[in-house]
Amino acid sequence: MSRKLFIAGNWKMNTTRSGAIELARAVAVEVGSQDQVDVAVCPPLVYLADVGAAIAGSRVALGAQNAYFENEGAFTGEVSIRMLQDVGCRYVILGHSERRHLLGESDEIVNRKVLKALSDGIDVILCVGELLEQREAGQTMDVVQRQVRIGLEGVSQTVMAKVTIAYEPVWAIGTGRVATPAQAQEVHAAIRELVGKLYGAQTAAATRIQYGGSVKASNAAELLAQEDIDGALVGGASLKATEFAGIVRAGM
Ligand code: PEP
Repeated sequence: MSRKLFIAGNWKMNTTRSGAIELARAVAVEVGSQDQVDVAVCPPLVYLADVGAAIAGSRVALGAQNAYFENEGAFTGEVSIRMLQDVGCRYVILGHSERRHLLGESDEIVNRKVLKALSDGIDVILCVGELLEQREAGQTMDVVQRQVRIGLEGVSQTVMAKVTIAYEPVWAIGTGRVATPAQAQEVHAAIRELVGKLYGAQTAAATRIQYGGSVKASNAAELLAQEDIDGALVGGASLKATEFAGIVRAGM
């Protein structure tokens, strides 16, 4: 089964309001009318509406970097899935390693967010990935499979079409140290095998698995050429429209 590649830019806690609008417009122009690759940008929460307006009518979709699993109430500082939908988000990134490791999100919390997002009807990018010491201790597959298994607990096969998994080795995020295509492919294949065990071969073949970790225009093609790599979640390189567009083009 051929899977449409999906490139998403995670702007993290970067840009200003005017810079975000400018970047979004430039990405929309660079991406143009191509529809071979799905493209999304995920700006900081406070700029979602402005960025949504800047990309309106383009082939670039809007995503958020996080959300909470309640609809409303006394959850100071949090934002619900419905609020994200209200400002035009199609995607939400959940379980990013910075949220897991810097902000203390457990697999169980990530799972609650995944379930809520899917029941509210937004598409999920579920991030998983091992720390350097876990890779060096030979625990990569165990860690990643546990994160996928718990992250997807209770998710039915019928909504798996709304799930993208992003494999992001933590040691490759923002470090300039990219996993080799073979290292990434090995983990992607294992994730697909696990999805197959959980949901069957057809769902496994249809599920998109992005790679994330220091992806740039210059290394994207060889990563995207791997059989089980179906796109990229891009941090630093998504902050420059031409660089990000170079990654999109590498997938065309
Ligand atoms: C990310 O934050 O998801 C990421 C992959 O960052 P970078 O591309 O900067 O490594």
